Amino acid sequence: MSLYDLPITKLSGIGEKRAVLFRKLGIFTVGDMVSCYPRSYDNWSATTPIAELVPDERCVVRGKVATPVSTIRISGGRTMAKLSVCDDSGYLNLVFFNNKYISSMLRYGEEYFFMGKVTYDRYGYQMVSPEFNQASQTAVITPVYHLTAGLNNHMMIRAAKEALSMLPEEMHDPLPQELRTRYHLCDLSYALHNVHFPADIAAMEQARHRLIFEELLELNLGMRLMKSRSHEQTAIRMEHDYAAAFIKTLPFTLTGAQQRAVNDCIRDMREKPSPMNRLIQGDVGSGKTAVCAAVCYHTVKNGYQAAFMAPTEILAGQHYETFIKLFADTGLQIDLLTGSMTASQKRKVRERIENGESDIVIGTHALVSESTVFSRLGCAITDEQHRFGVAQRAGLASKGEHPHVLVLSATPIPRTLGLIIYGDLDITVIDELPPGRTKVETYSIGSDKRDRALGFIKKQIDQGRQAYIVCPLVEEGEGDAEMQNANDYAAELMLGVFRDYPVGILHGKMKPKDKDRVMEQFASGEIAILVSTTVVEVGVDVRNATVMMIENAERFGLSTLHQLRGRVGRGQYQSYCILVSDNGGENTEQRLSVMCRTNNGFEIADMDLQMRGPGDFFGNRQHGLPQLDIADFSDTETLAQSQEAAENLLRMSPDLRDLSLKALRAKIHRLFASSENTMN
Ligand code: ADP
Ligand code: MG
Repeated sequence: MSLYDLPITKLSGIGEKRAVLFRKLGIFTVGDMVSCYPRSYDNWSATTPIAELVPDERCVVRGKVATPVSTIRISGGRTMAKLSVCDDSGYLNLVFFNNKYISSMLRYGEEYFFMGKVTYDRYGYQMVSPEFNQASQTAVITPVYHLTAGLNNHMMIRAAKEALSMLPEEMHDPLPQELRTRYHLCDLSYALHNVHFPADIAAMEQARHRLIFEELLELNLGMRLMKSRSHEQTAIRMEHDYAAAFIKTLPFTLTGAQQRAVNDCIRDMREKPSPMNRLIQGDVGSGKTAVCAAVCYHTVKNGYQAAFMAPTEILAGQHYETFIKLFADTGLQIDLLTGSMTASQKRKVRERIENGESDIVIGTHALVSESTVFSRLGCAITDEQHRFGVAQRAGLASKGEHPHVLVLSATPIPRTLGLIIYGDLDITVIDELPPGRTKVETYSIGSDKRDRALGFIKKQIDQGRQAYIVCPLVEEGEGDAEMQNANDYAAELMLGVFRDYPVGILHGKMKPKDKDRVMEQFASGEIAILVSTTVVEVGVDVRNATVMMIENAERFGLSTLHQLRGRVGRGQYQSYCILVSDNGGENTEQRLSVMCRTNNGFEIADMDLQMRGPGDFFGNRQHGLPQLDIADFSDTETLAQSQEAAENLLRMSPDLRDLSLKALRAKIHRLFASSENTMN
């Protein structure tokens, strides 16, 4: 019987009512409680002498109760209890509200630890409602858990203690002894006890390290197992290489990195016994579309259809236009399929796809819809893959008999992370921009300088260039507020500084048709200034645009800012990015200064990871990875170790079929069962 089969109500003091609260925290079973690791710890050993307390800081004091507790009534039928404690260096006043037990809990003359925020006034140092523990009984380090209304830390501590006491004496450790020795990892039982109630800091660190390592290892192994599974499928062979012939017709010479990417794909499609399953990762503007076009041409010339899925209507439309031009003299049939087309338009295109008239279909997720049936899909390409879940990517691939799969991403992700996130894919990195690109000059300004910035934009437009202005962000609730906000903001600009210039608006609430029209007008130069919400973020290509101004820059993650900035600097003109922000917080300043300093997406991604943790990447769980209990991806050293360990284990036992790995296999299964990735 596993503790994961025992409902949380088996713990004393947890009835059905309280169990609801535990479930809110994701704790359904006693086992879940054991793996509900503390979010931080209070260190009661780091005491400060009273005389050295620092106002406004959270401190720990070891002191003796120096006065009896005096309780008085205050307004609203509440009570206030006051007392003083002392150590060798001075006195500290304590205040508690509405706690009638204080006088029995804090006894005159006895010694306690107190932890809380310190204030200082004319009566001296004070703490309001500090936490406290008897000095003789205090553990050095106590756990602090995630809480929810109705559940306090004491209840969590009690539940964790009892859950741990139910662990069997002899635990089977999913990590083989050999591996633990090699990476200096403590055993599971020690780790579980010390992650909750560590004997000291070193024990806590050791326990956490072991659990983090294990979780990353499981994640790694799970992703690798999926990858090897996809290798079992049969392939569509595309013997002849047509890419080279196509590349000759392009209006430019491919960069070395683009050529390598094409080669990788063609090699996969011609030689591998299994279908291509490749990610092309290249910074904005690195020319992924041309690589795709070559792959599509190769696919069609070998007798198959190619599908190219983009995350937005705008982007799908733009790719369609690009492809029509690139394939103008080839006779290839290219079609567009998006959700906003009329029912009869869609039906016609779907007929062409089904009866094989279409060679290349470009579209949005309408491509994945059940009513889209391909006659012979040979290659499924997904652009800006971070916008799609793992499931949608798989959806497109399921439209054929194990077609070749290519995904494109401009979200630069540090390499270590990429290995995990895209563990099921082979990776090609395009690490070179087409020649002649200049660095986008980036400035971070306060709103007091906005007028100057707008003047600068005017000058650029007078020289024939175009500009993007990203609207201030609206607070939660978006939807109509987004539209309202975009409209108001644009109106202000149209009536004010830009009254003599053509201004267009683009926001998420617009009908796709209207969006397309605005985008077309911007692309053709009819509109000089495009005021938009972040819908321009992805992939749009207007080479004449040279300025990107972003309001409320502090509210965007670095990766998003980098994507936005990627809309300019795509042509021969020097381009500029102006980040407007009045939030002078240290973190904001630091983040925006990274943008000013570098244009390198990978460097920015690394900084983002360091400064914010991986939240920006994993917000909304966009990568479809399982939820982690304890690990995060900023611990790159453990990440690298776990990767090495995963490789070694799989080398020894390719399917983890080895008996000693049974428990590990079960844990991987559990980790992935909780996410949309299904493993079996
Ligand atoms: P992304 O990788 O961001 O999708 P695109 O494929 O949209 O980039 O390419 C950006 C721009 O660079 C396009 O206008 C494209 O025509 C151009 N381009 C792509 N490859 C080259 C090249 N080798 N030389 C010159 N221009 C190129
Ligand atoms: Mg692109």
